[in-house]
Amino acid sequence: SELAEDDSWARGQCESLQARLAEGISVRSVKAASELLAETRVRHQRLHADRNAARDALRQLIQGMLREVDDLGEQTGLFQERIGRHAEAIARADSLESLAGVVREMVDESRAVQQRVGQAQARLQSEHAQASELEARVRELEADLRRLSEEVSTDALTQVANRRGLAQAFEAESARRARESDDAPPLSVGLIDIDNFKRLNDTLGHAAGDVALRQLAAVVRERLRPADHLARFGGEEFVVLMPATPVPEAQQALTRLQRSLTASLFMHDQKEVFVTFSAGVTDWRPGEALAATLERADEALSEAKRTGKNRTCI
Ligand code: GH3
Ligand code: MG
Ligand code: MG
Repeated sequence: SELAEDDSWARGQCESLQARLAEGISVRSVKAASELLAETRVRHQRLHADRNAARDALRQLIQGMLREVDDLGEQTGLFQERIGRHAEAIARADSLESLAGVVREMVDESRAVQQRVGQAQARLQSEHAQASELEARVRELEADLRRLSEEVSTDALTQVANRRGLAQAFEAESARRARESDDAPPLSVGLIDIDNFKRLNDTLGHAAGDVALRQLAAVVRERLRPADHLARFGGEEFVVLMPATPVPEAQQALTRLQRSLTASLFMHDQKEVFVTFSAGVTDWRPGEALAATLERADEALSEAKRTGKNRTCI
């Protein structure tokens, strides 16, 4: 939180970074951490620049107002001095003409001062309105910084990307794929769903379910290539984006993952927790929305569930 003027502007990002780094240093955790830092830096820079501009404008405005008040003080001070002199002239005056002359001068001068005061008052009022507007803008920008800190793209339980992080990764990968030639290897998309997860929750408890989710995410993330993206899509479902990977290769990679998972157990409360998952893979077709690709992957996933689970279908 020392990165930001106000702790709350970077608390979310810091917690997410700390959680990632606590898991140990790997190519993937360093890559994710630097992506999070780079994204935070760009957004903070933009908001900071806007906020500083608003603050400087406010400062200038206040300086202008001070000058105005100062000026006014000077003018009214001069007026007071003149009134004093006029009073002396009145006391000395011995003819009606000279008295009338002094009175005429006094009336003219007080009119001029009244006009100046009126103008200054109007200017101060409009400047006050502008200052209030700028102050509201600064507060708004500070709220934006705070909101950004809360909107990190990582899932709190598993420390992999959440839906927001998935959308960002998909945007980047689909744009990259769209720039490549037609015969470049496709972007493969996998949908993963834990098998019999309800039973695991029911027999070992929700806490064991959470441990299994965390462990599964950690194992999958570790075994995927650094260029692949893993995101928690919701509940016990995950999405994998595999750039530059033909669908049969993506299927093989997920099947290998299933084999290695079958050989490993998680421990919870000294009980062995055994987890498998089923998956469906498909290719992303240029121009397609992620939801449409995932619908196809979901059909493949249903087939994997129907045909015995713990397998990957295309
Ligand atoms: P299938 O093999 O057909 O996928 O069966 P399943 O039991 O895994 O599927 P189902 O969709 O019936 O149940 C998913 C369960 O996942 C329901 C819910 O209790 C559990 N679940 C979803 N999110 C969480 C979570 O964050 N923590 C825990 N512990 N359980 C969760
Ligand atoms: Mg499910
Ligand atoms: Mg399930």
